[in-house]
Amino acid sequence: MIPLRMTDYKLAESWPSSIILHHTSCRLDKPELSIDKNYFQTGKFHNLNYIFYKKDTGFNFIIERIGNDFQVIVSQPLMSLCEFEDIEKKYWKSIHIALMGNYDKDIPMTRLYRVLSYRILAPVMRLFTINESDLLLHSTISTTGTTCPGEFVDMDRLKMILRSVFRRRSLKRNK
Ligand SMILES: [Zn+2]
Repeated sequence: MIPLRMTDYKLAESWPSSIILHHTSCRLDKPELSIDKNYFQTGKFHNLNYIFYKKDTGFNFIIERIGNDFQVIVSQPLMSLCEFEDIEKKYWKSIHIALMGNYDKDIPMTRLYRVLSYRILAPVMRLFTINESDLLLHSTISTTGTTCPGEFVDMDRLKMILRSVFRRRSLKRNK
């Protein structure tokens, strides 16, 4: 079992101001994890990642299909740094969210965009007051030209669905 030691994490010194999207193949490109199947795969991903890297995943959340729906799973604790060598250090304190699988090989379902928007992107953006323009793909900020989170991820479509979630309810900040 993976040790749960807070001392292993470097904690961010300020709140996150952006969200970075990945697919899990960015971290671990294993054939058995390259397609998001309808059974729980994040446990296996956590174990293989730990065997390989001996540290946490670099993703605060992983979203994957379990049964007939997508579920959001906490991977690395919020406010701990997600270190990627190919991005500027200012993004290490961002919220990093990974889609299970490899979206250079697979096409995201509409339901994935919807659950991603409704269950995690919109709440996190509201909580930390992150703008839509600060929702970024790993490939956009990478210095090494990665395709992560996959060429089949359609950012325009995701933003359209995200906007429809935001339209449903406004939020008052008074207590
Ligand atoms: Zn990535």
